[in-house]
Amino acid sequence: MTTSQHLQRAVARVDSSPIERGMTAAHRVRPLVPPGSWGAADPFLLLMEDWFPLGVFDNHPHRGIETVTYVVEGSIEHYDNHGNTGTIGPGDALWLTAGRGIIHNERPGAGQIAHVLQLWVNLPRAHKLARPAFQELRGAEVPVRREPGAELRVFSGASGSAVAQTHNYAQVLLVEVRLEPGAVVEQELPAGYNGFLVLLEGQGIVGSAATAVAAGQVAWLTPSDGPSTFGMRGGENGMRALLMAGLPLREPVVAQGPFVMNSREEIQQAYADFRRQGDQFGQ
Ligand code: MN
Repeated sequence: MTTSQHLQRAVARVDSSPIERGMTAAHRVRPLVPPGSWGAADPFLLLMEDWFPLGVFDNHPHRGIETVTYVVEGSIEHYDNHGNTGTIGPGDALWLTAGRGIIHNERPGAGQIAHVLQLWVNLPRAHKLARPAFQELRGAEVPVRREPGAELRVFSGASGSAVAQTHNYAQVLLVEVRLEPGAVVEQELPAGYNGFLVLLEGQGIVGSAATAVAAGQVAWLTPSDGPSTFGMRGGENGMRALLMAGLPLREPVVAQGPFVMNSREEIQQAYADFRRQGDQFGQ
């Protein structure tokens, strides 16, 4: 890897989760970061990879989180009970702030199997009940950092001089990394960030201990109190990956169904508000 004045992160662990049957026979799901690893993943809550046709997911609520849907293949039409709607395609992401409450759905086009990653980002206690909002982040429009054989698309945070304008509550870095075979790049990480790399295509050699990773795997970065970098080298077929990292919130996590709050009382309040407000939830 190239030299740097900052500490180089290594890979602490590589996870290889199997693809499982989902909610119907036509739904496949891979729990890349299963819920429950609150401390290690903080400020992230979970990351699921889904393959699904129309009709698997119904309208459903959220409170206390942001959901980020990244489309690998296919397209997704999204809508919510605050009147937001739109369509995103391959390489695009939808950054949805549920905040105080949202009812939403994300539907593939008719006849399609959509392949998406769904990331849940926790909201800090002070912003659990933020105003619901959405940001469509198009892969063709987000800031891009280009190095020889490397392309880094910045959906949140910064890579070199490429700085995303995405609005965040938790401080989050989300970068799509494309490397040609043998190409090398370093991504800077702010002090204290937790992080993991999700391989979408190909394979690579990553981190200061030169750990091999391949499509479908998740590489967890070693922690670092100070500013650091994470080095990546494309394998024989190159590599496409998403690097996700963020500053831990270090707050209590109480999760139940689609709601993630800081206490049991707040979860009960979420269910009570959802029952009482119905279609107006969060408005
Ligand atoms: Mn949802």
